[in-house]
Amino acid sequence: MAFVSMRQVLDEAAQGGYGVGAFNVNNMEQIQAIMEAARETKSPVIIQASRGARKYSNDRFLYHLMLAASELYPEIPTVMHLDHGNSVATCKSAIEMGFTSVMMDGSLMEDGKTPSTFEYNVKVTREVVEMAHAKGITVEGEIGTLGGIEDGHGAGVDSLAHVTDPAQAEEFVKLTGLDALAVAIGTSHGAYKFSTKPTGATLKMDRVIEIHKRLPNVHLVMHGSSSVPKELQDVINAYGGKLKPTWGVPVEEIQLGIKNGVRKVNVDTDSRLAITGAIRRVFWEKPEEFDPRSYLSPARDAMKQVIIQRMTQFGQAGHAADYQPIPPSEMAKRY
Ligand SMILES: [Zn+2]
Repeated sequence: MAFVSMRQVLDEAAQGGYGVGAFNVNNMEQIQAIMEAARETKSPVIIQASRGARKYSNDRFLYHLMLAASELYPEIPTVMHLDHGNSVATCKSAIEMGFTSVMMDGSLMEDGKTPSTFEYNVKVTREVVEMAHAKGITVEGEIGTLGGIEDGHGAGVDSLAHVTDPAQAEEFVKLTGLDALAVAIGTSHGAYKFSTKPTGATLKMDRVIEIHKRLPNVHLVMHGSSSVPKELQDVINAYGGKLKPTWGVPVEEIQLGIKNGVRKVNVDTDSRLAITGAIRRVFWEKPEEFDPRSYLSPARDAMKQVIIQRMTQFGQAGHAADYQPIPPSEMAKRY
């Protein structure tokens, strides 16, 4: 079995100077697409599930699908991460279920919508850090608030309304002792991130650079970092879809982040676009088809292709065999 803590994967990434994509899953085909991409590119992987995913697929299904992945791909260091935990209780249940990493998003209140206070964020994140580190489980926190709403999670605020303050980030890390820090730099969850190609005015990469200068040993996380490539939008719209024109985070900006301390890059929308385009294409070209495999196979393959691209662009490709996975019980002793 090759389940590993996220801390180890990110420490290795920092040493090697690369980033690691964290890809969201809800079902078997998405897990398979990621694991196949990881095998083909020899990449360590972070697979993450949101609260919405845990509800959609049921915790037990998700856990056993992940267990199957770790059995079938033993050569791939695999992190099972909770995306946007909304409370200490949610993080606790994920740890009990077998996740090797959790995000406590205390930037929002438990409803997952209302921006919280700094004190509240410190309190709940610190609580999760104590609980998780005792078991060798990694903790990601968030300071600042991302734009957009995804899976019912998000403040729905303008993406520049609560950009991370570097001094506050430094204080937050000191007070919580977390492993990885998600920063708000103008990105949003979902497909509609930017209405034109982002510039320094809308995507604050200078914040990442400044935060990294203050916190050189903290692993930074970029959320909402799908690139939303036009090719994937075009496939959907060519086969009956109606996406409005939109821009994501350009890969070169993510690569600039990786040069400046970003170790985890969250990608969900690109997978969704690839899957939807492939399914629409089958429905459009072969309306007589009714076997789900006829459209889920190409969908899985389309997602695999976009994941392969991201793994290569983020630099994690080729690094799966660099290290021996350290079991969480061993990681616990290192805190
Ligand atoms: Zn996020």
